This record gives sequence, structure tokens and C-alpha cells, in this order.
Amino acid sequence: MTQGAPRGMRLHIGLFGRRNVGKSSLLNAITRQQVSIVSDQAGTTTDPVEKPMELLPLGPVVFIDTAGIDDEGALGALRVAKTRQVLDRTDVALIVVAAGDWGPFEDGLLAEFRSRQVPVIAVFNQDDVAAPPPGVVARLEAEKVPVVRTVAPQGRGVLDLRTALLAAAPQDFVDNPTILGDLVSPGELAVLVVPIDKEAPKGRLILPQVQAIRDLLDNDAFCMVVKERELRTALDRLTAPPRLVVTDSQAFLKVAADTPPDVPMTSFSILFSRFKGDLTTMAIGALAIEDLRPGDRVLVAEACSHHPIGEDIGRVKIPRWLTQYVGGKLEFVQIQGHDFPEDLSPYKLVIHCGACMWNRRALLNRLLRCREQGVAVTNYGLSIAYSLGIIERALTPFPGSLEAFVAARATRHP
Ligand code: SF4
Repeated sequence: MTQGAPRGMRLHIGLFGRRNVGKSSLLNAITRQQVSIVSDQAGTTTDPVEKPMELLPLGPVVFIDTAGIDDEGALGALRVAKTRQVLDRTDVALIVVAAGDWGPFEDGLLAEFRSRQVPVIAVFNQDDVAAPPPGVVARLEAEKVPVVRTVAPQGRGVLDLRTALLAAAPQDFVDNPTILGDLVSPGELAVLVVPIDKEAPKGRLILPQVQAIRDLLDNDAFCMVVKERELRTALDRLTAPPRLVVTDSQAFLKVAADTPPDVPMTSFSILFSRFKGDLTTMAIGALAIEDLRPGDRVLVAEACSHHPIGEDIGRVKIPRWLTQYVGGKLEFVQIQGHDFPEDLSPYKLVIHCGACMWNRRALLNRLLRCREQGVAVTNYGLSIAYSLGIIERALTPFPGSLEAFVAARATRHP
């Protein structure tokens, strides 16, 4: 989904609660941590304020800050009516209370959302003033309502809130709908470059390649599959340039050289960082390569276990490219499957595989854990593109992520 996602495709997250419980400051605390806010829709005194944004790691969402559903008086009645309309378009509800003050009003809201089958997260704001009563927390947890404690002005608990939102978001929102469908329109051509070397499995293609082909067919696009050696000849024979070239990241340099500069180019792995994870987070994560120094520890994580063959990408090729880039020996730690370390502090960078065997929620949880611990995370294709000096080219099909990457780099290395 692109950063210009239409409003209807955004997850609508409603903030509900009495007046002065800190809904707006909670929204500001979340906003401060964002890569980009698409735009603000100014609210009147009675209108709920809508903030569309890219909420990492979920993607496009719109927060609806309601005015306070318990208002009294004439103006208040109008506010209440507007706030009630928000109930109808809420996908996930945050019920916010201050200083542990959960009462019958909040129970009423909870019952309302329950009847609508809308997931609810209970947010106990101003946790520094008073903690939520243990009895209330126990009751909410027994009812499977996630409880998050925040101190909005300090940003405390915001990461817990993100984690709870990711867990509460409906599956069909979490799953990206397409790999290539928004990049290659019906009737357009994508060229897929698939090296057949000794690391390639015998007699078949690997899952990301197969899924990319299937996605193009599902979207009525054309697809040409070639090895890297034949790419230039194949492109020369076309009567019009392809819409996109997608390569295995290991052939990046040759494919970048053989693809005309005006043809967008990327890799399967980068497509999957968007499809299974969060491309913007992982693109910005690649900037941490710049800060690596000899002796630093890098975690290389693969979501499934496969037997390394020959020059395995995670064990041999990425360590080699990064060592060359850094100009000294780095310490690489490889993990496979579900063994992701609780403590990431020994690592300067996490490099993840495309996670083609996983659902998106599983990888997003890992991205959140990295973010929580302040450790940069990127993926195979992005780290290779960065160390080969072609990351901007590899991000050109994704203008939103490219823009965020360029902005983040300017902040780090003005
Ligand atoms: S899950 Fe990761 S390691 Fe396993 S095949 Fe997919 S990209 Fe490769």
C-alpha cells in the first residue's frame, strides 16, 4: 500500500474518552514519532480531528480524535452526536482514561464496541499520577481487552500502544494485498531476473519469485523471466521498455548496469520488505551501515531454516559486501526460524531475510522489537543495495519510502 493510500484503505483508529483525559496529547505523542504525517484536517470545535498518517509499522491509518463523548450543554450535544458518528467508522477503538479513572462511562463504551465487534484497547494515561486499579486491570484482561499504560507528554508507553495496535488490527488490514499489482498495471510488462547458479534450488524457482509471477498474472500484467546474463539481449528485443525490472539482489550490480536508467528497478527482497514488513522502516534502517565500525556485531535473521549451499547469501555474500564497505572485520551472528533474541543491545544492526514463509504480523512484531530497543533493522536486498551504492535507484519504484530515506539521511549526515 502506498503512502498516498486513499482514506477508505486506511485503518481507522478512534480515540474515545471523557474530556481532559489527554486524548490529544496522546495523539501528539504518537505523531511526534512518525516518519510522515500525510496531512491534518483541521477540526472545528465540534468536529472530530482526523489525522491520516503512516503509523509504523502498520502502514496507512487515520486517527480520529473525538471531542469528548460526555460533553454537556447545547454545543456538547452536537459534539456527542458527531462523536457517535465516529463509532460507525472505527476499526479499532482506544478508550482513554486519566489517572486510573475507569468507571461506568468507560464500561458503557466498551459494551458499545463489543456489540459492534470492534477491537478495543484500554489506555490508562497519566500513569505517573495514578496507576490503574488492579481490580479493573484484572477484569479487562479477563475480558481479553489489552491494557496499555502511558504518560503522553513524555512519550512513555507509546511503543506499547503500537504493539497493541498491531495485535488488534484486523488480519486483512495487516496483510498487504499485493506484491506488484500497484506497480505494474494490467497490460504492462515486468521483467524478472532470476539467476540460476549453484545456490538456486534444483528444478524449481523459490517462493518470492513464484509469488511475484502469480501476483502479476492475478493483476493481468505481463511477465518475462530471464537470467541476468540474458537481460540485456532480452531488453533489446522489446519494442517498448518494461514498466519495471525486478532482480534477485545478488545480481544487483549487473542488472543495474544492463537496465536503462529510466526504467525503474528493484529486487525481490525489497518488494518483500514492503509486502511482509515495512519498507520505509527497513530502508531507513540501512543507513545504520554508515555507522558500522570494525568489530561491531550484526544480527542476520532468517525466518526459515534452509541448508546453506555454496556462497549462501546470509552467511557469505552479505558479510563479504558489508566487510568491504566498512573496511574491516565485523562480527556476524546468524539465526534461523523463531529464535529472535530478547535482548538486541549487543547488535548495531539487524538484517532480516524477506520472510516469504511468514505472515506480515510476525515480521512487524520483530520490527517493533528492534524499534523498542533502538536497534536499526533492514533487510537483505536493502543492505546489499546500500553497500553497492545503488539503494536510491532500488527505491525509485516507491517514492514515499525513497523520500523518507533521503530525508532521514539528510538528518543524519547533513
Ligand atoms: S523465509 Fe526468509 S530465509 Fe526462508 S526462503 Fe523466505 S526469504 Fe529465504
